[in-house]
Amino acid sequence: MKNIVVVGTQWGDEGKGKVVDLLAPAFDIVARYQGGHNAGHTVIIGDRKFILRLVPSGILHDSAVCVLGNGVVVDAQALVEEIEGLGTLGVEVDGRLRISNRAHLILPHHRAVERISEERRGEDRVGTTMRGIGPSYEEKSGRRGVRAGDILNPAELRRAVLAARDEAAATLGTTEPELAIEGYESYLESAQRLAPFISDTACFLNDAVDAGQRVLLEGAQGTMLDLDHGSYPFVTSSSSTAGGACTGTGLPPTRVTGALGIIKAYTTRVGAGPFPTELTDERGRHLQDRGQEFGSVTGRPRRTGWFDVPVARYSARVNGLSSLALTKLDVLDELDSISVCVGYRTAAGSCSTIPSSIHDYGDVEPILESFDGWKQSTRGISRLEDLPAAARAYVEALSSYVGVEIGLISTGPERDETIVVAGGRVADWAGRGA
Ligand code: GDP
Repeated sequence: MKNIVVVGTQWGDEGKGKVVDLLAPAFDIVARYQGGHNAGHTVIIGDRKFILRLVPSGILHDSAVCVLGNGVVVDAQALVEEIEGLGTLGVEVDGRLRISNRAHLILPHHRAVERISEERRGEDRVGTTMRGIGPSYEEKSGRRGVRAGDILNPAELRRAVLAARDEAAATLGTTEPELAIEGYESYLESAQRLAPFISDTACFLNDAVDAGQRVLLEGAQGTMLDLDHGSYPFVTSSSSTAGGACTGTGLPPTRVTGALGIIKAYTTRVGAGPFPTELTDERGRHLQDRGQEFGSVTGRPRRTGWFDVPVARYSARVNGLSSLALTKLDVLDELDSISVCVGYRTAAGSCSTIPSSIHDYGDVEPILESFDGWKQSTRGISRLEDLPAAARAYVEALSSYVGVEIGLISTGPERDETIVVAGGRVADWAGRGA
C-alpha cells in the first residue's frame, strides 16, 4: 500500500504543482483534499504552461484519475471554465475527474460576503483572494451550506441556492452586484454541467485502495496557512496539513503511508501576517525576481525571506513528514551568502517553536546562520553529484536542521530539472527503486 500526502510546509507556493506532476505517473489516483480555486498550481511542460486552480495537476497525465474530495469547495462556474480551458489545450477530463457529492459549493454571494468583510477589517484584513472560499467554509461549518451532491437533484439545488441567496440578501441588501438574480441563473446552468462528475468519492477512494491502487493526496496552500496550525488568523479556511487529507477525502489515517513536504530553499508568503525571516531589501527583491514570486492566479507579489528552520521543523511534526522535496534551489545561485534562521530570539530568551499568538510571533527576531553562496548556475542539474559543493553543503545542512531526509531537489520549473535522490523515499514513491 502506497498512499502519500503531498503537503506545503511553509506559507504555500512551494512548487507543489511540479512535484505532484512528477509523481503522478506512479499513482492511479490524485485527490485534492481542501481549498478552492485560489490554489493556482503552475505546471510547465515544454513550451506549454498550465495554471490549475482546482483540478489536481495529475490530470495532465492520461493515466491518473483525479478527485476533488469532500474537503474542497467548488465554484461551479470557475470549475466549468477550468475544464473548458483544459479541453482547449487538449486535456480531456471526461471519465477522469470525480467530484465528491459532499464537497460544498461556493455561491455568488460568498464573494460579496468576503469583499465586504475584508473592507470592514481595513488595516487588519487577511488578504484573501476574494473568490468566496472563506464564506463557503463558514456556511459549511454553520450547517447552512449547499453541497455538490445537490446538483444531481436540480429542483432541490435551485431551491437551496436561491434560499441561500435570499438569506445573504437579507443581511447584505440586494444592491451588491454579486447578488443579481441573473448571476444565479447562469451559476445554476454551469452547475448542471458538473453532474456527470459527481459521486461518493470516499467510497471510490477506499474501494480503489482495497483493489491495490495507489493514491496521492494533494493539499493546497501550506502548513502555516492551516486553519488550526497556521499563523491564525492570517490563514486559509481549511485544514491544509496532512491530517486534512483524511477528513477532506474520507481515506482514513491507517491507509496513508507517507507524507512528502514540499519546501522552498527560502521562504515566501502572500498577504499579511508575521514573517520572521522576511527580507525587505535588495536581497528580498532579488529572490522575488529570480523566483518569479508573483501569485499565479492573482499576480500579487509574494513577500520573500530566508529559510526558516523552526517553521520547517514545526511542519515536519504536525504533518509527520517522511521526506522533503526542496524546490527552487537555483533561485539562490547568484547570492554571495545565504542565511538560514535556526531559531527565534524573544523577549524571554530564545526559542525554536512557533508562538501560537501572532502578536508574540510578530515580535520574534530570527537567529541567523550564514552559508557561502555557490555563485554558479544549478539550473537544470539532475544529479546530486553535479551540484556545486557549497550548494550540497546548504542542502545537507537544511536536512539535518529539520531532521527529515531530502528526497528530491528541484533546480528549475521543468519536469526534468529535478534531482531524485537515490535511495530516498521519493525515488521509491516515484517507482525509481529504493
Ligand atoms: P504551488 O502552488 O505550490 O504549486 O506553487 P506555484 O505554482 O505557485 O509556484 C511555483 C512556481 O515555481 C511555478 O511557477 C513553478 O513553475 C516554479 N518552480 C517550481 N519549481 C521550481 C524550481 O525548482 N526552480 C524554479 N526557478 N522555479 C520553480
